Amino acid sequence: LIERGQAERSVITTCAYCGVGCGFKAEVKGTDVVRMMPWKEGRANDGHACVKGRFAWAYATHADRITTPMIRRRIEDPWEPVSWDEAIGHAASEFRRIQARYGRGAIGGITSSRCTNEETYLVQKLVRAAFGNNNVDTCARVCHSPTGYGLKQTLGESAGTQTFDSVMAADVVMVIGANPTDGHPVFASRLKRRLRQGARLIVVDPRRIDLVKSPHVAADFHLKLRPGTNVSVINALAHVVVTEGLVDDAFIAERCEESSFKAWRDFMALPEQSPEASAEVTGIPAEEMRGAARLFAKAGNGAIYYGLGVTEHSQGSTMVMGIANLAMATGNVGRLGVGVNPLRGQNNVQGSCDMGSFPHELPGYRHVSDAATRALFDDAWGVAIDPEPGLRIPNMFEAALDGSFKGLYCQGEDIVQSDPNTQHVQAAMSALECLVVQDIFLNETAKFAHVFLPGASFLEKDGTFTNAERRISRVRKVMAPLSGLADWEATLALSQALGYPMDYAHPSEIMDEIARLTPTFQGVSYARLDTLGSIQWPCNDASPEGTPIMHLDAFVRGKGRFIITRYVPTDERVNQRFPLLLTTGRILSQYNVGAQTRRTANVLWHDEDRLEIHPHDAEERGIREDDWVGVGSRAGETVLRATITERVQPGVVYTTFHFPESGANVITTDNSDWATNCPEYKVTAVQAVRVDHP
Ligand code: SF4
Repeated sequence: LIERGQAERSVITTCAYCGVGCGFKAEVKGTDVVRMMPWKEGRANDGHACVKGRFAWAYATHADRITTPMIRRRIEDPWEPVSWDEAIGHAASEFRRIQARYGRGAIGGITSSRCTNEETYLVQKLVRAAFGNNNVDTCARVCHSPTGYGLKQTLGESAGTQTFDSVMAADVVMVIGANPTDGHPVFASRLKRRLRQGARLIVVDPRRIDLVKSPHVAADFHLKLRPGTNVSVINALAHVVVTEGLVDDAFIAERCEESSFKAWRDFMALPEQSPEASAEVTGIPAEEMRGAARLFAKAGNGAIYYGLGVTEHSQGSTMVMGIANLAMATGNVGRLGVGVNPLRGQNNVQGSCDMGSFPHELPGYRHVSDAATRALFDDAWGVAIDPEPGLRIPNMFEAALDGSFKGLYCQGEDIVQSDPNTQHVQAAMSALECLVVQDIFLNETAKFAHVFLPGASFLEKDGTFTNAERRISRVRKVMAPLSGLADWEATLALSQALGYPMDYAHPSEIMDEIARLTPTFQGVSYARLDTLGSIQWPCNDASPEGTPIMHLDAFVRGKGRFIITRYVPTDERVNQRFPLLLTTGRILSQYNVGAQTRRTANVLWHDEDRLEIHPHDAEERGIREDDWVGVGSRAGETVLRATITERVQPGVVYTTFHFPESGANVITTDNSDWATNCPEYKVTAVQAVRVDHP
């Protein structure tokens, strides 16, 4: 089905799925891709690949691809195919009409972590320079925005500290709220290799993920917490470190702020933070927490890897800071084998954040209120950038519903399927006067759009992606864009139509501008990427070949800063009506909302989202294997088939969100992280009842 004969040429490019960012060799015959082979020199993957990157690329030429721009006056109307000029012209005139009537801030844009760095840079530039506001946000809002915030507050940079290779020097690895086997498979293989060599493993997860026990790998501790209690766990571990003399005093004295450390130490020493107190909250036996804390703190090299099970909580940012605190307290930052390592979900989520996709930050994580930064960009772009932060995605929804936000340019992001509380998002989209969706398929969000701009897959464009280890890798065009334009070219056309022409002949010129304006990218160019293969930022005069490990001699912010992380229970509580806690995750063969993988042979492995439920809870409800189960929350209801398993603990149910039919986000709620509004996907109080076939 997939391998289609002998190749005539090959093109080195980068996988468009997860944040591992594997290098691939696309083998091509004529204009067709014949097969994707893992690139042996790819530094992120060392010649390995998983079932997504290796096999699930045929979506790029799937019959569902929309290759002609389309418009319609009302969302009830049928789509009308039009020329690029007409579609772009219509979008631009609608955006200008809306701004004239409702004000400059009535429109905004959303960038995509699926698109290239150059494309996300252009969208945020379009919003800031052509729209004239900072209403730009990115899908990192719903995944790793707490990572950006928490790591900047503590360590000084919104990115992971290590290179993937670093895990091969770790003695103890703590995996918190991540399931690398399914979410980051090639990294998981490397981690398992290290575990087979003898490294010890601590897993912090409400569910028994594959790493807890799989062939030749078993965790020393599985801290099986109740969903939503992460911060209590990290505080209990810190309590043991502080009260049992396990702090790395020399590291603290040399590398960290004395005053913030002392305040943190005194807080963590309180009996309220003890494992015994935490056990009441988390359900984890105190001795297990004590044992895990001792194992980690006494390791020569202790490394922490974490995922969305950390960030997607009402205390997501608090937990990220708690992880950074623990790493600093035990001296586990700033060398090989240690560090704080967020496993980023999407291929370019790190890059979309780096490129200034947040409403408060210009490229390089510089705040829009900083006059010197604005002056730099004002000068380069010939505009006056608004010093006020713009709207985050949830604020855009609220503003749409209150009538002050009327137009949205949404590139490569299916917010209706991927954001929580689908009904709320749909109502917001329905309230817009002009929604422009740019995507390769007519996704769920496009059902509410007035203009559809056909997107280009990663095989149809040049650019770069930045993976979870800050590694910038080239994306190279394998075939011409099916619609005639790559996404970056469509953004240029829209900007031109709005009266703000941007002049780039090739994405390499966009990267040159990024390098001129962003100190951490100063040494990056396509020529250097071609020579070096890939580059981990920061890349500048101080590190001309990039930076595999950050914070080597000092933290980016100078001294490491400890922040007190008080556990605050989520508002999402169980009660008689909703007695179970739902948590969500991913499965190996599918990817995110499934728009790509569902259109490939990967559906043979997994063709529906299912509800995992513990045997006790199933029996109590008369639910048997494969029964249909109605799952209801305060936000909505959906129906899933049951898988009865002890992978989940009693009182907890679990599902994936790859299929729109089951719509897991119909039941997730609006609760979000206090600092960043990252939704609390991981904790939803629900009821589950057996129902007849829907
Ligand atoms: Fe692609 Fe991630 Fe699989 Fe690598 S591990 S092939 S980047 S999906």
